[in-house]
Amino acid sequence: MSTLELRAALQRHPELSGAEHETAALVAAFMARLRPELTLTGLGGASLAFGFGDASTGPTVLLRCELDALPVTEAELGRPPAGIGTAAHRCGHDGHMAIMATVAEALAAVPPRRGRVILLFQSAEETGAGAAAVVADPRFAQLHPDWVFALHNLPGYPLGAVVVRAGTFSCASRGMVVEFAGRAAHAAQPETGCSPAAAMCQLIAEFDGLAPRFQDTGELAFATVVGARLGERAFGTAPAQAAVFATLRCESNDTMARMSAHCEAAAARLASDSGLGVKIAYEDIFDATCNSDQAVACIRRVAAPLKLVPAPEPFRWSEDFGRFTARVQGALFGIGAGTASAPLHDAGYRFPDELIAPAAALMLRIVADRLAPGAE
Ligand SMILES: [Zn+2]
Ligand SMILES: [Zn+2]
Repeated sequence: MSTLELRAALQRHPELSGAEHETAALVAAFMARLRPELTLTGLGGASLAFGFGDASTGPTVLLRCELDALPVTEAELGRPPAGIGTAAHRCGHDGHMAIMATVAEALAAVPPRRGRVILLFQSAEETGAGAAAVVADPRFAQLHPDWVFALHNLPGYPLGAVVVRAGTFSCASRGMVVEFAGRAAHAAQPETGCSPAAAMCQLIAEFDGLAPRFQDTGELAFATVVGARLGERAFGTAPAQAAVFATLRCESNDTMARMSAHCEAAAARLASDSGLGVKIAYEDIFDATCNSDQAVACIRRVAAPLKLVPAPEPFRWSEDFGRFTARVQGALFGIGAGTASAPLHDAGYRFPDELIAPAAALMLRIVADRLAPGAE
């Protein structure tokens, strides 16, 4: 099977985050033929890692790609989603896997003379759960990478252009769920109950007014209220329950910790003022992806034959690769998918096959740079 045939097969079997079993099987079958020195399957769930070279002779460089596709909505299908066909590769992860497969073929043909390369095919990037699960798997510690690199295709940039940034490349974000619990009453005597309506509205205003408090350092930091729920459509009943859903987003993990603490305190204060119970939870937690200066310098060096595009500010979206850069020096960078490409996650998006060869060559130059004798 060629890498293009692999990509076509992956496209025919798009799977949702955490359920990439067919995808993992296709990758495992493709890689088995290349006889890597190390194969780990079921890493933190459905992730797989393959090693080429010998860690005792030099550093270990880890390259990551993603396995998951995105859900196709009921509105698009015209019926409730069910079974195969309910997911689609609209983030280009199928293309990223084809790039890694191309890198694997090259490493199998000419193994590293010094050090080792780990190719990580990671599950569940879209939910932020996959990288966390890989890092939590005890077998990840045994891989002890010295460097971590990943790329993401970026529509809107010239095809093959390399988009780099030192420091934060993509923002930290997390979904915050605040639930207020009061006491229902007859709508004719609301004063005998305890309604969370006012606390809910004030909390929404608090989220909306959050940005100026945390942008003092010039850092991007804000909350987006994505939903709220209050009571029922029952005109005889004053409500007992309310919930607010907001996404917190900022450039650094430190600011995220401060924003979260501030919002938790505000929710607790509003609950206490109204005599309500409060429950707070987080979902879809992404660290900021912070690129090391040395890793970025390496990318700039080896990408020199290609068009280099600096990113003046961090991308607002999040990537769970931040879990790796929080532990190991490295970088996430972008590679242009073409200025005419539909945006990521859009129904009209397609990964351009023309990117596979230059992106794989770039990854191999990064590996060669980091494994060269005398490389810092
Ligand atoms: Zn995505
Ligand atoms: Zn993606």
